[in-house]
Amino acid sequence: MSGLKVILVGAGIGGLSAANALLRGGHTPIVLEQATALGEVGAGVQLGPNATRVLQAMDLLDPLMARAVTPEAAMIFSYKSGEALRKVAFADALKSTFGFPYLHMYRPDLLDGLAHGYDGDLHLDAKTIGIVEEPGRVGARLDNGDTIWGDVLVGCDGIHSIVRKHLHGDTPANFSGNMAWRGLCPGDAARKIGVPVVSGNWWGPHRHFVHYYVAGGWYLNWVGVTPHDGSAIESWSAAGEIADALHDYAGWNQQVTDIISETPRAMKWALHDRDPLPFWSRGRVTLLGDAAHPMVPFMAQGAAQSVEDGYVLMRCLTESDDAEAALSRYECNRLERTAWGQAGSRKNERLFHMADPKEVAARNARVQQDVDSNPQAVLPEQSRLFGYDPVNDALAD
Ligand SMILES: Cc1cc2nc3c(=O)[nH]c(=O)nc-3n(C[C@H](O)[C@H](O)[C@H](O)COP(=O)(O)OP(=O)(O)OC[C@H]3O[C@@H](n4cnc5c(N)ncnc54)[C@H](O)[C@@H]3O)c2cc1C
Repeated sequence: MSGLKVILVGAGIGGLSAANALLRGGHTPIVLEQATALGEVGAGVQLGPNATRVLQAMDLLDPLMARAVTPEAAMIFSYKSGEALRKVAFADALKSTFGFPYLHMYRPDLLDGLAHGYDGDLHLDAKTIGIVEEPGRVGARLDNGDTIWGDVLVGCDGIHSIVRKHLHGDTPANFSGNMAWRGLCPGDAARKIGVPVVSGNWWGPHRHFVHYYVAGGWYLNWVGVTPHDGSAIESWSAAGEIADALHDYAGWNQQVTDIISETPRAMKWALHDRDPLPFWSRGRVTLLGDAAHPMVPFMAQGAAQSVEDGYVLMRCLTESDDAEAALSRYECNRLERTAWGQAGSRKNERLFHMADPKEVAARNARVQQDVDSNPQAVLPEQSRLFGYDPVNDALAD
């Protein structure tokens, strides 16, 4: 069924991507965003072929490619020596295997591209404070007293979603025990340091450090994940001192500390996730993106999964005559995969942060062996991650 009025609460990557999909599926999305202007944090985001395939289906990929960077390889480095533990061909290899590129993007560029592709209804300064369910319709109650009605309402409102609260009650997110430093090193400085055009991940005891170029190489985006005691943080993002970031990475390879030193300012983020929800949909209300399945960022998949969600949601609504049944089908198609992403992301923390020297030696040998045996091989977890095709694969009933 097309022509449904779909209220999307939240205009982040998930909400705007879903709005694009729904519009192209013949529906009428109404996006409600609490902020007075569209915006994303000034940082990077990695998008695998599972997400770029969807962007292509919505005709958004080409304009985004102009502002992206495609990494030559994915590399894992040992934190102190800088030894490459693994190097796998990435952009070209993934494109030839999966048909779509792996992109590194500056988040404001991605959001801008999603916003430009969408010429439907979008209300800023429209904070949803409640959900009203009536037979045959559902409404978002706004803080200005208005209620916006639709056939379906989708919570795309992030980890502290009010729509999730409506369905599941108010529960705090899980603090992961880690925080992330996030910084943008000028691209020229990074090139002088010798940072290659790769998706780089340095593994060390109790912490790791990720970097990749964004915005056509204008910046090198980096993320440094370090332990945090969690005191007094339910959720924050805050300005941090470069000196403190350097302190956290004392003793690491000079390339890492040079990247940090060349960065004018850094931010600190507390990292949270939630356990998989037993259900996302009830009646005409459902969830999408971090509202449904927030994950720690150690698989770089939270945003990519939200892009997948939006396309599957559109297909389910379009392929059914019954909106409530369509939302159940959407949830049924997405729950297992996103729960896998949530669990896999947690598992990666243990892999990246190993500290026991014996375990580290065994891990490093295993990782090297995977590649030595067949350097061009697509690893099984990559096939599951990037081979998923929400555009063409048949959906489960
Ligand atoms: C350090 C770090 C690195 C990451 N790296 C990657 C990566 O490389 N690749 C990847 O795929 N993912 C990555 N992620 C995860 C990714 O950032 C998130 O999964 C993604 O941004 C979630 O998008 P969303 O639209 O679901 O939620 P959000 O981005 O949280 O957007 C929610 C929107 O809803 C609005 N909103 C909230 N409440 C209301 C309300 N009541 N009324 C109206 N509007 C409301 C907010 O203002 C916001 O605009 C990373 C995360 C972190 C922390």
